[in-house]
Amino acid sequence: MSIPSFGTWPTPLEPARQLAAAVGLDELWVKRDDLTGLGGGGNKVRKLRHLCAQALAAGATHLVTTGAAQSNHARLTAAAGARLGLAVTLVLRGDPPAQARGNLVLDLLAGARIVWAGDRATGEVAAEQERRVRDDGDVPFLIPFGGSSRHSARGYLECAQELEAQLPGIDRVVVALGSGGTAAGLVAGLGAARVVGVDVGAVPDPVATLRALGVEGELPMIERGQVGAGYGTLGPGVADALRLAARTEGLFLDPTYTGRALAGLRACVADGRIARGERTVFVHTGGLPGLFAHPQIRPELQP
Ligand SMILES: *Cc1c(COP(=O)(O)O)cnc(C)c1O
Repeated sequence: MSIPSFGTWPTPLEPARQLAAAVGLDELWVKRDDLTGLGGGGNKVRKLRHLCAQALAAGATHLVTTGAAQSNHARLTAAAGARLGLAVTLVLRGDPPAQARGNLVLDLLAGARIVWAGDRATGEVAAEQERRVRDDGDVPFLIPFGGSSRHSARGYLECAQELEAQLPGIDRVVVALGSGGTAAGLVAGLGAARVVGVDVGAVPDPVATLRALGVEGELPMIERGQVGAGYGTLGPGVADALRLAARTEGLFLDPTYTGRALAGLRACVADGRIARGERTVFVHTGGLPGLFAHPQIRPELQP
């Protein structure tokens, strides 16, 4: 099976000295998986490499996937389809907004066909779209929610191997946990004891999600204090985290995933779950376009 490259690997691992001092760590590094090349970058690119290899091996001509209106995964699936010459249908939750913003602008630029699920379940609408593609004589390939499967988690096993080669003696790797493939792959590569997943509220039960993705035995630490009022909302800790990364390192995080991940890292250091002396890596998983569509971002981010 030939696996599309989609980018330049390994992604950089950068020291973040000011941010380390601000959060209370002796040593903090940022794994720049926001710089994964394709389509504005982000963690979904590593998973999509493996999913697209499966799609091509199956003779697919049309990718179908699901997500929230501001799904980074949907945006990167649109970009991957464009790169590979495959048609793309994105089934997005809810109704079309009055104006396309953020990721939605990029989905449309890349030529994806967008189907709004309204009040129906996206999975049901996606199954209908697969049938429709087949009726048109094309070959659909359904990419699972968030691009997470046992197979695609391999993309983060590879990221773990990159990290081990870039920096010896890593104690902790902190990452946002959504559909779970990213954390599951890191656990496979680094062992559960070194991984901290910050729940963003994308799935009802992150433990069941990790189990379904092949995490057996010991679980990683899961920080659950950052969901706040829900996946699409912006709590004060997350707004603070966005400001802190921007003002200490010139590093822009997103309000849904990486902002929560940094807020979670701060919470873990504050209560001692991560000790000051632990050599810590923060995985920047991308997501910046979502910042420009977040309904709460303007009032919350006033200084
Ligand atoms: C999807 C996403 C995550 C979470 O990754 P999962 O593999 O779904 O858990 C983290 N950060 C960003 C920016 C994402 O888009």
